[in-house]
Amino acid sequence: MSGVITAYSVLDGQAQQNYPISSPADIAAAMNAARQAALVWAQIDAKQRSQRVARLIAVMMAELDDIIAVLMAATGKVKTEALLGEVYPVLELLRYYQRHAAASLAPCPVHTAPLAFPQAQAVYERRPYGVVAVISPWNFPLQLTLAPLVTALVSGNACVFKMSELSLPVGALLMRLLGQLDLPDGLVQQVIGAAPEGMALVDARPDLVFFTGSVAAGRAVMARAAQHPIPVLLELGGKDAMLVFADADLERAANAALYGAFSNSGQVCVAVERCYVEAACYADFVARLVAATAQLNVGHGPVGDLGAVTSLAQVAIIEAHYNDAIAKGAQASGPLRLQGRYLHPVVLWDVNHTMLLMQAETFGPLLPIMAFSDGQEAVRLANASDYGLNASVWSRDINKAERIARQLQVGNWAVNDVIKNIGHAGLPFGGVKNSGFGRYHGSEGLRQFTYTVAGLTSHSRLPKEPNWFPYSD
Ligand code: NAD
Repeated sequence: MSGVITAYSVLDGQAQQNYPISSPADIAAAMNAARQAALVWAQIDAKQRSQRVARLIAVMMAELDDIIAVLMAATGKVKTEALLGEVYPVLELLRYYQRHAAASLAPCPVHTAPLAFPQAQAVYERRPYGVVAVISPWNFPLQLTLAPLVTALVSGNACVFKMSELSLPVGALLMRLLGQLDLPDGLVQQVIGAAPEGMALVDARPDLVFFTGSVAAGRAVMARAAQHPIPVLLELGGKDAMLVFADADLERAANAALYGAFSNSGQVCVAVERCYVEAACYADFVARLVAATAQLNVGHGPVGDLGAVTSLAQVAIIEAHYNDAIAKGAQASGPLRLQGRYLHPVVLWDVNHTMLLMQAETFGPLLPIMAFSDGQEAVRLANASDYGLNASVWSRDINKAERIARQLQVGNWAVNDVIKNIGHAGLPFGGVKNSGFGRYHGSEGLRQFTYTVAGLTSHSRLPKEPNWFPYSD
């Protein structure tokens, strides 16, 4: 295959660089090199691996300004978002691995003794899969590539990654940062391209596929992986609900809704995309959000709260959701379109579940708010979604809030906070329903990049009786 992908800066529209698209032969060669390197890497113990990878903290801190500049140009996000949404979660994860990875991956002795093997020593161990393919999206290109990539390395695997075709300068940046870690040659490889190259990467038979992206692409990747068959972990879209009870700290909840819905211009898998508010405080809450939204600044000036939407294709989706809601009777705090990829954040009320923006992932700066009458209805509304990634519950009654949170069909919940658990490196992250399956972050997530091998060493002599059976009298 031939051809190039040209990267453009979202900030000024200027062409930045051409990237040659990987051919199937390139992808096969990358897989071979990674496979050889994985053999070397797996011989290095977990503690040394996490220490070496943790050097990335120093490298990233030394290159912070460059990292931020590359991320802003590739995505259109504002500086604080690049720092807090991209760099910070990776640094937290590295710090976590530095301290806890070796213990998380240590062999587990099993002390229960079956009747048949009273003197056997039983243990189960974690082994790296070999080569992990990481396929990642454009909204957080650094975090969502580097986090699974580092997880793969720390657990003893090699990694071949494919960034979104919209984020290629970030891929080049990652290769440069990782090049300073003195890793075995070939341990990390990059494939360049779009959906066909993602498929070719799966066809090159990695030992595990870690995919982050849309539900449609996740289904296609899983179907292709099933042909080989290769295990997959899928981190897909979301339609996160925020449930606000009248006894909540409404000021704090309103600020969190603002941040949850509008940070990164709403292009966050765990963005607040549906806000349900108890009827008793609904009008008050809507008024607070409308007033607070009017104070937000769009653009990359010194007080820019929201940056650009990364692609015009995404602008079209957001606009379709906005127009559909207005056509079906929703009220809006203002117009959506500002200029080009820059959109106003908008609060919408008088919304219902027939509207697109309450069903499909919007991935943009729209915050629909709907009323509920009691906890039971709040749970029913929150669970009436094909997605199940993240949700939050707001109340001063912590017992009630946690009881409600435990009834939500999600992989992650928060009480009196939003979306922060993505930055909590010790908590496994992932979804249910159309939001995918599999976890990363924390010990649980680290282990999902390994497979379990059970071992038994027998120290007893075999019974002499030919018809011996432990359960007979
Ligand atoms: P996308 O599915 O279009 O692309 C994701 C990646 O998959 C890209 O690298 C793309 O080139 C590749 N790809 C696309 N089609 C493919 C195919 N058929 N076979 C193999 N590879 C293929 O997603 P996107 O538009 O880049 O990202 C936005 C989506 O990602 C949203 O739905 C968002 O919710 C989701 N997302 C999920 C999480 C999470 O952790 N759950 C995090 C961020 C984004």
